Amino acid sequence: MMDEFPERPAVSFVVPCHNEELVVPGTAQALLELIGQQFDLGRCGPGSMVVFVDDGSSDGTWTLIEQLALSHPGRIAGVRLSRNVGHQHALLAGLSTAPGDALISLDADLQDDLAVIPQMLDHYQQGSDIVYGVRGQRPTDTRLKRMTATAFYRLMRRLGVDVIDNHADYRLMSRRAVEILRQYDEVNLFLRGIVRLIGLRSSQVLYDRRERAAGSTKYSLSRMSALAIDGITSFSAVPLRVISILGLLTSLFALGVSIWVLVVALTNPSAVPGWASTVLPVTFIGGVQILSIGVLGEYIGKIYMETKRRPRFIVDRVVGLPGDEPEDGAPRG
Ligand code: UDP
Ligand code: MG
Repeated sequence: MMDEFPERPAVSFVVPCHNEELVVPGTAQALLELIGQQFDLGRCGPGSMVVFVDDGSSDGTWTLIEQLALSHPGRIAGVRLSRNVGHQHALLAGLSTAPGDALISLDADLQDDLAVIPQMLDHYQQGSDIVYGVRGQRPTDTRLKRMTATAFYRLMRRLGVDVIDNHADYRLMSRRAVEILRQYDEVNLFLRGIVRLIGLRSSQVLYDRRERAAGSTKYSLSRMSALAIDGITSFSAVPLRVISILGLLTSLFALGVSIWVLVVALTNPSAVPGWASTVLPVTFIGGVQILSIGVLGEYIGKIYMETKRRPRFIVDRVVGLPGDEPEDGAPRG
């Protein structure tokens, strides 16, 4: 238990970078200073470091990372991906390779305020496996970005997906939480959704999002939309269910229309001949078709969820089983 949350954890900062040559040196500097301070205060241990992940940059980002790693051995490391795989996968690559007892993921541009990191470490010390950084104010983001973000989080919750409002990917994860995260094999990565599925003890710290240190955003509108669609379709089969409901409604409607058509055809001598035999099949087949697509959708939704092979449960702790040794190592009496 005690070594699960060591008093002086080795903390790794995982920083995905895509064409960030303008900010990498400053970010490295700031993080090294932070590690130094926290180390002097006895809150993080030896082995704490910064791991930059170069996500297929085409500028001088990797050269800078290499130089930094050479001049700060054991303090700065770099991982270079073979091509640009996107922020979410780059982050996972970093979390999978970084050492340490606690891993903190953050953006290279320092928009996530480093001032709350001591608080994150406090929460970790008090037994939180996951500490979410939550944005209070976003004065520096554009109106469009704020509005689309609010709408997105609302929609996600409507669809039954557990997401934390205004939490992006600034968070601390314990070694244990990272190992569990790695059991999620999915290709369409929406990390902030998956991390919620892990459960365990978690907590939140509030911060204000800041201006980008330098350079420009690497998330274009189309990338943001792609992330949103990934988030929805990786976590919810509700859009498919909507088709089923639509099919059901259309079928009911067709049934009503059929009855009406039959009544008219049989009771009204002036009804146009051939009218009923045209309208009936059209409404009927329309209803049956949409309903059938809905039924297919239900199964495809199931297949989709099955193919993810997500862990079905995660054990937090165990008591009274072999292997569950008392803390002092003394034999149980
Ligand atoms: N990023 C990445 N790969 C990409 C796009 C972005 O690793 O394909 C990184 C980027 O370098 C930054 C973080 O993801 O560290 C967040 O991107 P950005 O700051 O551009 O997004 P914004 O804050 O504007 O939403
Ligand atoms: Mg940013």
